[in-house]
Amino acid sequence: MIPSIDQKPLSSDERARLQLWHRNMMIFYSCAMTLLTAALFILPRTQDMPWVPRIILAILIFLIGVGAYVQFRERCPRCNMRIGRQSRFMLPKQCRSCGAPFLDDKP
Ligand SMILES: [Zn+2]
Repeated sequence: MIPSIDQKPLSSDERARLQLWHRNMMIFYSCAMTLLTAALFILPRTQDMPWVPRIILAILIFLIGVGAYVQFRERCPRCNMRIGRQSRFMLPKQCRSCGAPFLDDKP
């Protein structure tokens, strides 16, 4: 990789913001998976209530929209590239675009 003048470590505020984004994303996906699992158990028991699958579908569409927002809203503090495009769940070690280190290099 070509060294860049922008590869100095992130400030503690920038690092804290990335950690908060990562934590919020993990919390959101945990809640979404719990809701979807609950829906899978509820759905077979509600055949006499035809509105239940519609509500579950609406909730599913809502979760997909919010999930996309949560994942793609955060950007690299240096090059402004969306971090959600670089990784699905985990905060990458560094930006794939500019090489800015997102995590400490400590073992
Ligand atoms: Zn970057």
